[in-house]
Amino acid sequence: VRQLRLETSWGELRITGGSRAGEGSLVLLPQLRLALDAGRPSRALVPLRHVFVSHGHIDHCLGVVAWASQRHLQRMPRGVVLAPAAVAGKLRALLATAALMEGGDPYDVVVREVRAEERIALRPDFSLRFFPTSHWVETIGCCLEWTRRRLRDELAGLAEDELKRRHEAGEEITTEVMTPLLAYLADTGPDVFERETWLADVEVLITECTFVDPRDHERARRFGHTHLDDLVSLAPRLRNRHVVLTHLSRRHRLGPGARAIESALTNLLVARLHLLNVEWE
Ligand SMILES: [Zn+2]
Ligand SMILES: [Zn+2]
Repeated sequence: VRQLRLETSWGELRITGGSRAGEGSLVLLPQLRLALDAGRPSRALVPLRHVFVSHGHIDHCLGVVAWASQRHLQRMPRGVVLAPAAVAGKLRALLATAALMEGGDPYDVVVREVRAEERIALRPDFSLRFFPTSHWVETIGCCLEWTRRRLRDELAGLAEDELKRRHEAGEEITTEVMTPLLAYLADTGPDVFERETWLADVEVLITECTFVDPRDHERARRFGHTHLDDLVSLAPRLRNRHVVLTHLSRRHRLGPGARAIESALTNLLVARLHLLNVEWE
């Protein structure tokens, strides 16, 4: 797996993960105890409490079984899987079958069904909001939203004592500020950027670039994936601070794939470009 340390307005955001189309994608945010897809078993996945599953393709959810099994074995507190309606019930059945195969009690895991436009709190300062992406099966992406309280603009410059006095008198001296910190698009074609125009401004954009060869345009269209040329067209509109790309096809070797992506995009993006693709074996 790869490690990224990204400067954001929240602070340094650490991302651990690896990705290859068909073989497994996982994006782990250890500071938030959150996984964005769990396509393969991973030691780093086990301590994470929430696992978001974007869709039912095995390269995005196979690791959920090993995660649940390991947490069960180590008697860790209940884990939570967040999954779209199309797969939540099937994941429950898969986990129940896996626990039966192991001969023990059912795993202590809740599979919570989530819908596009729903928002759920991960902790007081962070929530996840979901939206549909543009893949060939029902797939949802998520936006990690950071909420903090800040002094109201009109009170800026007042002395500490005065602020304290107003606060004690019951005046609301702070206001809530929400920052869309990170968006994860899982598997998707480029259409999602037309619908979800806010994606151009999220600080950390994690999306896929499955194909880089000019002969693969039709394949990308048909299966709801992003081609490097789609990102070249989108790049001038993107104002993100970091762009993280995943899901490189096995039709491309890792090194040449990375070089093609970097040489096409580095100069077009305002953002820093990061690649999370790996060779799993
Ligand atoms: Zn995939
Ligand atoms: Zn898929």
